[in-house]
Order: sequence, then structure tokens, then C-alpha cells
Amino acid sequence: MPTHDFDLFVIGGGSGGVRAARMAAQRGARVALAEAGALGGTCVNVGCIPKKLYSYAAHYAEAFEEAAGFGWEVGHPQFDWSRLKANRATEITRLNGVYQQLLLGAGVRLIRGRARLVDGHTVEVDGQHHTARHILVATGGQPSVPPFEGREQVITSDDMFDLEPFPKRLLVVGGGYIACEFASIFNGLGAQVTQLYRGDQVLRGFDDDVRHFIAAEMRKAGVDLRLNAGVAAITRTAQGLSVRLAEGDTFTVDAALYATGRVPNTAGLGLEDAGVALDERGAIVVDAHYQSSVPSIHALGDVIDRVQLTPVALGEAMALVDRLFGPGTRTMGYDFIPTAVFTHPNIGTVGYTEAEARRKFGRVAVYRTDFKPLKHTLSGSSERTLMKLLVDEASDRVVGLHMVGPDAGEVVQGFAVALKAGATKALFDSTIGIHPTAAEEFVTMR
Ligand code: FAD
Ligand code: NDP
Repeated sequence: MPTHDFDLFVIGGGSGGVRAARMAAQRGARVALAEAGALGGTCVNVGCIPKKLYSYAAHYAEAFEEAAGFGWEVGHPQFDWSRLKANRATEITRLNGVYQQLLLGAGVRLIRGRARLVDGHTVEVDGQHHTARHILVATGGQPSVPPFEGREQVITSDDMFDLEPFPKRLLVVGGGYIACEFASIFNGLGAQVTQLYRGDQVLRGFDDDVRHFIAAEMRKAGVDLRLNAGVAAITRTAQGLSVRLAEGDTFTVDAALYATGRVPNTAGLGLEDAGVALDERGAIVVDAHYQSSVPSIHALGDVIDRVQLTPVALGEAMALVDRLFGPGTRTMGYDFIPTAVFTHPNIGTVGYTEAEARRKFGRVAVYRTDFKPLKHTLSGSSERTLMKLLVDEASDRVVGLHMVGPDAGEVVQGFAVALKAGATKALFDSTIGIHPTAAEEFVTMR
């Protein structure tokens, strides 16, 4: 007779939680999942998916402008923000249903409500106690806004998808993924965007060439990107939000987006009572197998604050389920995780930056090309593409691959397999290109 109600109780129905629950149930485990909000979590509801849909919408602005060079007359295109929002909402509701079907189809018991831990084997939802052999905390994260005068006037990425009315003048604060993506998207949709970043260049942690190149491209596209800049105060006036910069400049916007990082969702979960150790940022401390300081409690995804990306949460979930209910212990590799930033143009990257590669390998050969894509010979656009390869000279292994250009994420995903497999520059050189593409440059750079 089982001593617990479930083999696995998952708290949080986002990217990591849904994948873990589904895979465990498919392996015969008795699984429950508690979700306080909409199924699919951040990625489906207020992250990757709606963001990418809005990015597609914004790209049409360029397409309409560029069409004339190819012989098209498109007149004066009109953008209907309400229609985009409604169509997005319909698609997200459909996806919520798909997630529900996936869970129910796998035999997962779905519990709607906010869960909290009672002890290492007990979870409480709406006064109901459920016991489980293993508990997985996959509660994700939430936007964090620093304290300053006027903080109550600003919004976060969660608020951007249903903003009403469309912000004709938008302030974006931050220089990370979200700030750069939303600056590009709303610029494309027709807003006048001012982006402020506190440091010398946006996208800290990315290759320096990539950072400078995207900053230049975003400016060319119309984003008023200001570096070493910050807000002193924001006040509401009859004209909108009056923004006073630390340097003294003042201007007015319709909305102010703060994209200044995200913090783990660990407050009010009863983690401390259950004896689960947290780090100084409030993230759950786990070992290489996602086990917390309480052996029966596991955590993964944004709540452990390692790499905040959906495919990473999915990979962690699969590794955990393999260990608990599958073939056995294996660890997920965190090297060569590819990533894309959906700026306009996109960034795609895998492996080391040039600075990291030099620190790690010493002698590094750099192959770099920066060109006007074929399409723009007729389109009239001045957008350029950057491609860069980093090779460890001692082993000839390609250790970094970076691109700024259309569909960079699509291009880099394939090359990520090559880098993960340890491909050498000689192997790249012996690979035949696909002509005419931008991606072929990666195998023709000499
Ligand atoms: P989440 O998906 O956040 O899921 C956590 C779930 O737990 C939520 O549904 C929440 O309601 C629920 N929950 C929290 N507390 C409780 C509780 N006490 N009881 C019950 N349920 C609870 N990543 C990419 O790879 N590509 C992208 O393009 C991308 N774009 C992004 C754009 C934006 C604007 C944002 C904010 C993020 C983006 N990300 C992207 C990151 C990605 O969304 C996250 O890394 C991913 O969603 C993390 O998954 P998770 O399972 O850890 O948490
Ligand atoms: P990031 O950590 O990427 O960026 C936060 C930005 O805010 C940085 O530029 C940081 O500056 C700045 N910042 C932090 N604190 C302050 C402050 N007090 N005042 C002013 N600026 C500040 O976080 P995001 O919120 O952009 O995104 C969170 C995560 O979500 C990302 O790291 C990524 O993992 C994931 N994501 C992934 C996407 C994708 O895959 N395409 C898209 C969107 C999000 P500094 O660099 O100087 O610290």
C-alpha cells in the first residue's frame, strides 16, 4: 500500500513543472500538479510566446517598407493594436487548453489554486492537504523593479501584452533580454521608444561585437538608446509620465517599462518552515540533481535562478524525472546552451564570447564578417548582418558562434549541435554551404 497520496506533487504549471509532471505520469508515477494562475506559466502567458507573436507583428512594418523595392505597392498600412491583442489572447487561451489536455491525457491530477509546503512530504492547497513521496517546486520568477521616486507609475513585461491604449511614447529601462526585445518590438509597432541602460553597453554577458552591433542596429531602426543613463524620478502629469533623468534631462512618455531583472517566486511558499535553504536572492539552493536541502523536495527552472530559459527548465525537468522515475541518474550539461534575443534584427549565440574564450583557451582565432544581406540590395534597408566564429587554436575546436541578423535563432540552433559535438574549424571548412543564404557564411569564413 502506498504511504503517500502521490509519488510526485508539482507546484507550478509552467515550462518546467508541466514537463516534469507529464513525463513522470507517462512513466507510471502518480502525479498531481497545482497551478495558481494560467497553465503554461510565464513562457506561454506573458513571455516567449506572446513576445514572439508581437515580434512577428513588428517585423511587418519593415516588410511593408521594403516591399516597394521588390515592385509592390502597399499603400498606407494601418496597425490595429486591439486586433493584435485579441488574436494573441485567443491563441494563448488555445495553448492553455493544450497544456491542460497534455496533463490530463497523461493522467496528472490537476489542482487549481495556490500551493504551500507544510513539510517535506505535504503540500496544502485551499486548506486541503496532499502528501507525496517527492515534491517539485517549479514556481518560476517575477519581475523586479528597484525602489525610486515614482516606482508606482511604472509597469513590467507582464503588463505590456494588454496595454491600453497603445503607448505612442514608451520609456524602457534596462539593457537585458526583455528591455532590448520590447524596445525593438514597440519601435517596430510604431511607438517612439527611449531606452535607458545604466552601463556602457546593452546585453552584458554577450560578445562585445554583438553588443555594439545590435546597439547600432537598434538605433538605426529608430530606438533612442541612451547608455550610462538612469531615471531620477517619474511623476504623472496631465500630458503623461514626466521622466527626469539622473543627468537632468526631462521628457514625457505614455508608459514606462522597467525590465530590470526577475527574482525567484519563493515568498509565501512555506519553504523556510519546511527547512528548504534559499540563497541571498531568494532562489532555492539545489545540487546537481535539483535536490534541495530537504531530500524529498526538488526545484528547477527560474526558481533556482541558474539559466532563465524555457528549454533549460525543460531539460532540467527531463533529467529530474529520469532520476526519480526513469533509467537513472544523469546530469544536464549547462555548456553550449544556445540562446536568441528577439531584437530587430535577432541575435543568436552559442558558446563562449571572445573575451571568455581568450580567458579560457588563451590563443583564439577570430573569424568575423559584417555584410549587407542579399535581400537588402533591393529592399533599401540599411540593416546589416554580423557573424562571428571563435576557434581554440590549440584544438581547432569552434568554441563560440554568434550572429546578429534575420532569423539568427533559427540559424544558430543547428550550429549548436555542431559546437556541442566538438566540431573543429576544419570540419566547418569541409561542410558545403547552402547558397544563397546568410548562414553559409559560417562555413565559408577563412
Ligand atoms: P514559469 O514558467 O514562470 O512557471 C511557474 C508557474 O508557477 C506559474 O504558472 C505560476 O503561476 C505558478 N506558481 C507560482 N507560485 C505558485 C504557487 N504557490 N502555487 C501554485 N502555482 C504557483 N525563455 C526562452 O527560452 N525564450 C524566450 O523567448 C523567452 N522570452 C521571455 C520573455 C519574457 C517577457 C519573459 C518574462 C521570460 C521569457 N523567457 C524566455 C524565460 C522563460 O519564460 C522562463 O525561463 C520559463 O518560463 C521558466 O519556466 P519555469 O517553469 O521555471 O517557471
Ligand atoms: P536581465 O537580467 O537579462 O537584464 C536585466 C537588466 O536590467 C540588465 O541590463 C541590468 O543591468 C538592468 N538592471 C538591473 N537592476 C537595475 C537597476 N536597479 N537599475 C537599472 N537597471 C538595472 O533580465 P530581464 O528582466 O531582461 O530578463 C530576465 C531573464 O529572462 C533573462 O535573463 C533571460 O534569461 C530570460 N529571457 C529570455 C528571453 C529569450 O530567450 N529571448 C527573452 C526575455 C527574457 P546590468 O547588466 O548592468 O546588471
